[in-house]
Amino acid sequence: MSQKLIQVKDLKKYYNGGDVKALDGVTVDVYKGDVIAVIGPSGGGKSTFLRSLNLLETPTSGSIIFDGVDITGKKVDLPLHRQKMGMVFQHFNLFPNRTILDNLTMAPIKIKKMPKTEAEEKAMALLQRVGLADRANDWPAQLSGGQKQRVAIVRAMCMHPEILLLDEITAALDPEMVREVLDVVLSLAKAGSTMVIVTHEMNFARAIADRILFIENGAVVEQSDDPKAFFASPATDRAKAFLKSFDYE
Ligand code: ADP
Repeated sequence: MSQKLIQVKDLKKYYNGGDVKALDGVTVDVYKGDVIAVIGPSGGGKSTFLRSLNLLETPTSGSIIFDGVDITGKKVDLPLHRQKMGMVFQHFNLFPNRTILDNLTMAPIKIKKMPKTEAEEKAMALLQRVGLADRANDWPAQLSGGQKQRVAIVRAMCMHPEILLLDEITAALDPEMVREVLDVVLSLAKAGSTMVIVTHEMNFARAIADRILFIENGAVVEQSDDPKAFFASPATDRAKAFLKSFDYE
């Protein structure tokens, strides 16, 4: 049995004094090496769930045990825990006035106090893995959207996180650039990275995930550790209705 990395217990996140129940009692365990795809209709709570995992959203109630520590507790060293979780967003947010290599080494040098040469070596090795080693000295503006998103993934990996949280990372990309980004994520998954991925790419979710979480109205409506079976015949009417609107083989 692999090790439990995150334990989410009865997580609730309400907005507007409780009028909006973005998360209404989510309980999920994430094990080391898990690749979890979070899917469901827009507004269902997927992003809130992901952002709650590293406390970009403060839960209304419930707990998140990460590496044995309840990170929703008052005295927790939040920056330390956040370092262990790499997050990649829809928009890459690279610093435009820094080279690609600088963008990658800033956090390891500043936050992890890694020596510059070591940070650069590690960044170059990761850039190599995503096919962008020759762009290390370019400015972000010289890269395509797909390339920038690959750099953003590398930036997260440079901190050696225990888990990667990916929030709709291909949603803002031109269609022809989606594949190159998803291929990078697939290769990381194959190499054993633990990931929670919010995505609207159903073929990708089916191909990459060990587990599917179908979230709607702030709740996990269906959960499956057999993605192929889930996509072939979901158990709930809600998931069936949702999947009908997608064109996947
Ligand atoms: P999804 O990622 O599935 O599209 P979200 O997690 O973004 O869903 O949103 C879940 C619900 O919470 C939606 O009803 C959304 O409008 C609401 N919501 C999200 N963020 C906020 C916020 N900062 N203030 C108020 N409501 C919010």
